[in-house]
Amino acid sequence: MNNKTYFFTLKAWQFNLTYALFILLAFNYPFLRRLYEINNSLFMTITGFITVLGLLQLILSLLFATPRLAKIIGIPLILIGSIVFYFMSAYNILIDKVMLLNVIRTDIYEAGDLFRPMLLLFFLLLGILPSYLIYKTRILPGNFRSRLYPALPPLLLSALIIAPNFATFKDILRNHKELRYSLIPSNYIGSVIGVGKMYDELIRPFTDIGLDAKAHPYWNNTKKNLFVFVVGETARAANFSLGGYSRDTAAPLRPYLSEIIYYPEFYACGTSTAVSVPCMFSKDGRKDFQPGSELNTANLIDIFSKVGYHGLWRDNNTSCQDNCNRIELEVPCTRKSCLDDVLLTGLEQKIRHINQDTFLILHQRGSHGPDYTGRYPADWQAPYLPACGSADLKSCPPQELINAYDNSVYYGNIFLQKTIDILKSLADEYNTVLVYASDHGESLGEDGLFLHSMPYDTAPDVQKHIPALIWIASQTARDFGLDMQCLRRHAQQYHSHDNLFHSFLGLAGISVSEYNSSLDIFAPCRK
Ligand SMILES: [Zn+2]
Repeated sequence: MNNKTYFFTLKAWQFNLTYALFILLAFNYPFLRRLYEINNSLFMTITGFITVLGLLQLILSLLFATPRLAKIIGIPLILIGSIVFYFMSAYNILIDKVMLLNVIRTDIYEAGDLFRPMLLLFFLLLGILPSYLIYKTRILPGNFRSRLYPALPPLLLSALIIAPNFATFKDILRNHKELRYSLIPSNYIGSVIGVGKMYDELIRPFTDIGLDAKAHPYWNNTKKNLFVFVVGETARAANFSLGGYSRDTAAPLRPYLSEIIYYPEFYACGTSTAVSVPCMFSKDGRKDFQPGSELNTANLIDIFSKVGYHGLWRDNNTSCQDNCNRIELEVPCTRKSCLDDVLLTGLEQKIRHINQDTFLILHQRGSHGPDYTGRYPADWQAPYLPACGSADLKSCPPQELINAYDNSVYYGNIFLQKTIDILKSLADEYNTVLVYASDHGESLGEDGLFLHSMPYDTAPDVQKHIPALIWIASQTARDFGLDMQCLRRHAQQYHSHDNLFHSFLGLAGISVSEYNSSLDIFAPCRK
């Protein structure tokens, strides 16, 4: 390229300074705002600004060693940064490795969302345009010292401010992880490294579990067992009437309440599908569970297979998240998106055809946002209107957003009702139990937050507190010696996804070294 085609000519340090200022001003408003909100201090915000500016210049002086490198590295960072900034702004989300995993698996948004006009605008104005200007800038090479020196004044200044208050600043960094997760581009670069490490799991050898598993039938009939686990999506306890919500979103379940036990204090293992779903099937509880371990570790369903159950996973979500790799998987939706009803198509015939003990997992689309109105039929008489149908949640009037979400929860309970009806019709041949638990909750604009996937420690309760219930056919409860009153009493206590693994094993009478009876919700109520 010759001289005439350049728009600007900058020395290397000038380019680095401009680049650092652009990153800070164009992408890091969420970071600076969070910094300000810690104790409403402008001084703190300015100190943060100066520190990050100095650090960016320091890093760029190393990274942008030649003008060519400055463009090869600098342009992609800005292109990606503009997309990351869009999602952070649109939903007030933070970026960590789990969030990135959700983005890769299109859990947090829906694939069609990528073609939203606002996203395109962010990408054009904050990604393509500055990248084009960088491309059209002539950068004069400078040695390392000439690039480094301009970083020193801000770094020295911030050192002077921070040194006398070092303990305070250290505390802030430790207690406010959201700062780290909101600083572009270090948040997404760190996340890429984190996800990369997670995929290291792939090359590790497969770990089997449940080697000593044995079934001990303790029920007094000769029927086959059909245990159904409905893995919910994005339903939160706060909007579930069985847990006290003022709107009767669980009305469809009312006729079945004598056979239903609701768990009002049930907590999720993670705040996203990618963490929660594998964790539900893992022998490890939340504290020990390693996201990614599902890629090469056997799980609850494998133990059921070992003792002779047929494992069937029907999915209407993005995937089974590597939890069904060794059992039968059915994806009945053949279009871009389907209502959860598709999971029940031909189910009764399918179960009768399998004709053996069966562990069935129905993985719902549930209340997945941002298009909550897409989770129920357009021609359905939705109970809560008007409902916001925009994916741009911030633009929805808050009540209309809640209406849309509540409709999706209500419709999710119609789904549970239909599932129970199918199980009832199979009662002649099967002992039937249904367990339902959502994977995580959702933010609906509280504190400006939307969707889910916040880092667990900083996530609000609504993203972690989930609805969970079990339905046991009366006859099955009798034949299994399960005391419903006792279960109901125990249900009032704290529970979590950690209970699922052990409860399913206990229910099926499977003895195995991984089983812990203190986490089995049925154990204290089995006669
Ligand atoms: Zn989810």
